[in-house]
Amino acid sequence: MDDEQLLRYSRQIMLPQCGIEGQIRLHQAAVLIVGMGGLGSPVAMYLAASGVGELILSDDDQVDLSNLQRQILFTTSDVGRDKVDAARHHLEALNPEIVVRVYKERLDDDLLAELVHGVDIVVDASDNFTTRFQLNRVCKQQAKPLVSAAVIRMEGQVSVFRLDRDDSPCYRCLYEDTEELAETCSETGVMGSVVGIMGSIQATETIKVLLDIGSPLVGRVMLLDAERMEWRTVKLAKDPKCPVCS
Ligand SMILES: [Zn+2]
Repeated sequence: MDDEQLLRYSRQIMLPQCGIEGQIRLHQAAVLIVGMGGLGSPVAMYLAASGVGELILSDDDQVDLSNLQRQILFTTSDVGRDKVDAARHHLEALNPEIVVRVYKERLDDDLLAELVHGVDIVVDASDNFTTRFQLNRVCKQQAKPLVSAAVIRMEGQVSVFRLDRDDSPCYRCLYEDTEELAETCSETGVMGSVVGIMGSIQATETIKVLLDIGSPLVGRVMLLDAERMEWRTVKLAKDPKCPVCS
């Protein structure tokens, strides 16, 4: 690492959990982030700032004025641009040392499998159950860890699924694959800062898994009620009848 890199990452390298070795590990890592919205914004910004070497972003949407209340990666002048192009522009400005690759489409199973195969970990920052179940399935097939979060109104949840391990529960152990869960924030509203909290946790858990430190949220689902500012952690066991992981 050169002097500039040592300076850029100095506060992180100082952490005994990271050190120079950990920083090099992050530099060699690749992360797929699916969804460049309210969760994907802080996730991508923190991972880029932390020096994760390669970020692959996917989103098929354009920046809308109504996104700016929570999708903090974008500015007013990005309105109308493809989200992934605007995201790449801002992330490369934040940290020119990293590589950002983008996909402007909803990923089908084949392309998703190919992308997941090439990364170390996947972040689910999507806003719909179809994508969440698809990501869970493909990450299990490819044996890659999945960091999942969802936010609605002033409530959030986050968990880590070690789909690279046989003993970890998966997203399908948590939810039945039904259509009735399809409430979205465009219908119910969402507080931007609460999305930011959950995205920041996803970034933290991603870095922990990449560095192999601490205790990630595996087999636990953390739930936030931001109105009362109360956290609850519930244990999640592997479902022996789960069609995906058992
Ligand atoms: Zn399962």
